[in-house]
Amino acid sequence: MARKAFVDEERCKECGLCITACPKSCISFSSKLNSKGFHPIEIDHEKCIGCGFCIDMCPDTAIELWEVAEA
Ligand code: SF4
Ligand code: SF4
Repeated sequence: MARKAFVDEERCKECGLCITACPKSCISFSSKLNSKGFHPIEIDHEKCIGCGFCIDMCPDTAIELWEVAEA
């Protein structure tokens, strides 16, 4: 098992703080819009190391770490 970050797209307000916090540069803005008109982030799970820095930075508690099976 490995820990990976997942976003609740509806909670994301496109502030970008998590992007600046990620040491693996694996977060970017999606091209789609959520129901509030923001571009939510998307996370490259191949690169994510589950450090949780993005979670600490998010003012809207939009990111959680989940246990996932190793690919
Ligand atoms: S858990 Fe760490 S590596 Fe994964 S997206 Fe968040 S900051 Fe980046
Ligand atoms: S810090 Fe939270 S609200 Fe801001 S872009 Fe990242 S997930 Fe979205």
